[in-house]
Amino acid sequence: MKPKVVTRFAPSPTGFLHIGGARTALFNWLYARHHGGEMRLRIEDTDRARSTKEAIDAILDGLTWLGIEGDGEALYQSERAARHREVAEALLAKGAAYRCYTSAEELAAMRETAAAEGRPPRYDGRWRDRDPSEAPAGVDPVIRLKAPLEGETVIPDLVQGEVRFANKDLDDLVILRSDGSPTYMLAVVVDDHDMGVTTIIRGDDHLTNAARQSLIYKALDWPVPEMAHIPLIHGPDGAKLSKRHGALGVETYRAMGYLPEALRNYLVRLGWSHGDDEFFSTEAMIELFDLGSVGRSPARFDFAKLENMNGHYMREADPAALLDALGPVIDAEEDAPALKAALDAGGRERLAIAMPSLAERAKTLKELLDNARFLWAARPLAMEEKAQKLLDGEAPAHLAALNARFAALPDWTAEAIEAAVRAYAEEAGLKLGKVAQPLRAALTGSTTSPGIFDVLLALGRDEAMARIADQAA
Ligand code: GLU
Repeated sequence: MKPKVVTRFAPSPTGFLHIGGARTALFNWLYARHHGGEMRLRIEDTDRARSTKEAIDAILDGLTWLGIEGDGEALYQSERAARHREVAEALLAKGAAYRCYTSAEELAAMRETAAAEGRPPRYDGRWRDRDPSEAPAGVDPVIRLKAPLEGETVIPDLVQGEVRFANKDLDDLVILRSDGSPTYMLAVVVDDHDMGVTTIIRGDDHLTNAARQSLIYKALDWPVPEMAHIPLIHGPDGAKLSKRHGALGVETYRAMGYLPEALRNYLVRLGWSHGDDEFFSTEAMIELFDLGSVGRSPARFDFAKLENMNGHYMREADPAALLDALGPVIDAEEDAPALKAALDAGGRERLAIAMPSLAERAKTLKELLDNARFLWAARPLAMEEKAQKLLDGEAPAHLAALNARFAALPDWTAEAIEAAVRAYAEEAGLKLGKVAQPLRAALTGSTTSPGIFDVLLALGRDEAMARIADQAA
């Protein structure tokens, strides 16, 4: 029987959860779910100086927001130094590693010679077979892996195919530093082994590490996990992803008004495909995801595509959920305090009523919020120039007549409002648009807005009539 699939997401908390990391996490999560396995989380916080609590929280929050949570407790790599050391000692004891006393000066000279001879800088193995009795006094050694000098290391990669490395190019890497701390390469291998990881899915910038790590596995007689190195995400111009092109933290996407389900759907399509399908529910992603359909060339990040996808998910979303999702978008606005006060003073109720109509017309929650601002704007409304034009001529008289009808309505319902406006247009011999345009201008200060009946309903009778009266004859 094949063992249960265990994947892992192993971020270094030196920055936030950026879009590439989020995709790596998603792929690991989908692969695990698809195979009925688990995805474990490992925080690679061994770089104590650069790892911050803030970054760890941002990564965990980002994953939670995206709905891709790890199974079981997260493991913190920094807490496992003793175990890493124990494994290094075990390698030493079995003769698969050795103590190296080469000084910094000697290493520098080695690099210089290599550069002068046009060779890549490699440690020359000078302590590999030397007798420990020759060790200089007072020098703390590092421990190096006794890597094979000849032959090849082959990574049967699930995305890249068979990747071959000549062992002569992989020198005797340090596994334990002279202060007894493990190197990254050793820590990753020991942790993946101890966590029972069967499948490593990560960016292809780790491919060379994979070869070195594979040597450590072999020296320990541990099975090498399956590996899949996925191409990095590039910008729309094909260059490495820059901030301008979307290399941002997941929390920034949240503040810009993207929905987690939209971002997730967008991310799964960045590098993975299933025919020409674009939209995938979570269940469908889990059912269909496989590493064989991950492409070998870098995916290109495309903001316009993400926006369109987000618009789709906004139209499908529950309006109440959209209202909740607006929180971080509001927090990110320059006038957040005033905005919150306006929402508390009745704006939220208006927003809730207008929400379905607003959601039809926006691609992000930020855009939706901007489009909703008229709902709590102070009277008399500031008029856009084009809107002002719609209030010329007969318009004020029509507005006055409409207000009289609104005042007489027994109930302020969508049906009653619509019937009243239509009846007035018909009796006045006007097309509905001719009545709706000045109404829209008076109610929103703009020429574009949600449907006019929705606007009237959302504002409530008192506010709507007051705005109309401001512009009526
Ligand atoms: N901590 C590494 C990173 O953030 C990932 C290590 C791995 O996946 O093996 O790039």
